[in-house]
Amino acid sequence: MIQAAGAEPTEVRTRTDLESVEALIIPGGESTTIGRLADLYDLIEPLRSRIESGLPALGTCAGMIFLASAVTEGTQPLLGVLDMVVERNAFGRQNESFECRLDVQGWDSPLQAVFIRAPLVDEISPDIEVLARHNGRPVLVGKEHILACAFHPELTDDLRLHKMLINLIQEQ
Ligand code: GLN
Repeated sequence: MIQAAGAEPTEVRTRTDLESVEALIIPGGESTTIGRLADLYDLIEPLRSRIESGLPALGTCAGMIFLASAVTEGTQPLLGVLDMVVERNAFGRQNESFECRLDVQGWDSPLQAVFIRAPLVDEISPDIEVLARHNGRPVLVGKEHILACAFHPELTDDLRLHKMLINLIQEQ
């Protein structure tokens, strides 16, 4: 998706990798595992400080959870760069996964969104902009150079969200 959107993708596994990138995607998966591994590889503080000092970032699904400041149940390592509380697995189990069309603020046509054991935003600070909602709940949010979505934008061929991230590099 990144290549198709006009940039060069690379994987970030270490602090050195992190220093070399101009933007970051924290993907879907399992947020407790992402947090545990980030902790194990001493990446929590470097990630937090690079994002806080302006690195454009997009968190998708588990990545959205990892960017948040709290989860509704339990504790897990989180970056806390977006002041919001997220409910994990808010739609239920894997077989409650679904697709829908979302109207995104400022876009001229809807986005096809794929939700897989997706989170929902429960509480959100007023300084975070809500760019799309599903049943009234935020599913795409943004604050300055940070974007987060509850769905998987890499599973369709719509490049608009990835392009939004790449455009944020130019704005820094
Ligand atoms: N349910 C996962 C979690 O809580 C997120 C699922 C996903 O990224 N598709 O971390």
